[in-house]
Amino acid sequence: MNILIFIQSEENKISRSSIEAVCGMQKVCNENDTISTVSFNSEINNELEQYNIDTNYFINGLDDFHPIKYVSALEQVINEKKPDIVAFAHTYQARDWVPRLSARLDMPFISDCIDINMNGENIICTKQMYQGKVNADICSKSPVIISFQSGAFRADEIKQGNAQTQELTVGVDDNNAIKPLDKFKDSKGDVDLSSANIIVSVGRGISKEENMPLVEELSKSLSAELGSSRPVVDYGWLPHDRQVGSSGQVVTPKLYLAVGISGAIQHQVGMKGSDNIMAINKDPKAPIFEIADYGIVGDLFEIIPKLTELIKNHQS
Ligand SMILES: Cc1cc2nc3c(=O)[nH]c(=O)nc-3n(C[C@H](O)[C@H](O)[C@H](O)COP(=O)(O)OP(=O)(O)OC[C@H]3O[C@@H](n4cnc5c(N)ncnc54)[C@H](O)[C@@H]3O)c2cc1C
Repeated sequence: MNILIFIQSEENKISRSSIEAVCGMQKVCNENDTISTVSFNSEINNELEQYNIDTNYFINGLDDFHPIKYVSALEQVINEKKPDIVAFAHTYQARDWVPRLSARLDMPFISDCIDINMNGENIICTKQMYQGKVNADICSKSPVIISFQSGAFRADEIKQGNAQTQELTVGVDDNNAIKPLDKFKDSKGDVDLSSANIIVSVGRGISKEENMPLVEELSKSLSAELGSSRPVVDYGWLPHDRQVGSSGQVVTPKLYLAVGISGAIQHQVGMKGSDNIMAINKDPKAPIFEIADYGIVGDLFEIIPKLTELIKNHQS
């Protein structure tokens, strides 16, 4: 198989989800396969050269996001290199231009996948459906375009190697039909949950703001960082820099303790790469239990005070 992965970058840094896409493809490739990357930013070439990929193709002059120009550039690369699989991270940008690319090339696009496996000539992509209640395997022959959900693979498992960079020249028409404006920037807070070892994360199950000290105390007893699902932030009980998920932070702690969190897809993509996931939820059918290593079905208002007390006693 000949694989081509598009590498997105932000502020001269490779996007974490693009690294994850490389890890996903490294996982299914054997020594007869080739993995190449294609990027539009020369600042990231050095980093890409340290990974176990064959060639990093670099195209100059496309620093600023422009869906039509990106489609045109990739169309030419794909027509020339003829990859069997073209892989992307399922970012907001990819959602914009990759469907256009798929239509232009008349190549199927399996989007937002959480896993990939090969079975002979069959490429089997796993995709979550119905708010994460069902996993569907979608089978395709090559050539195919695939995008991977953020958090589908662990970025720190990328295989190191020695890639070479090759500059490609493509002709991209000036196209004024779309004029991209300034990029939307998430407000960055002071809390970096991505480097926390333990995170106690609280969801809507906490019911009201007055109950927040319950989880704050548990978090303190474990020397953990406090995280949350989106409703807790929307209600204003915690600031946005505590939110975990697709529109919050992506975290990979040693222990992620989800308290009163249902485990919606948008939350899972931010935390499913955690080493150990423990969930407390009164609903045994909550989706969070499908990815949890340890689950406690019960009322958090009964469990948390006892758990905090046990931890404190254990420490004294
Ligand atoms: C574009 C978009 C982006 C989004 N981004 C994010 C994101 O970044 N992060 C995020 O988290 N969400 C995000 N969401 C929202 C997401 O879809 C869910 O709505 C959200 O994650 C649900 O949060 P929750 O689990 O806290 O609440 P709920 O889904 O309401 O779950 C509450 C859980 O608490 C349990 N519970 C209730 N009472 C108790 C009790 N006494 N004891 C134990 N358990 C109890 C319930 O059984 C339930 O499972 C996004 C949505 C969209 C559309």
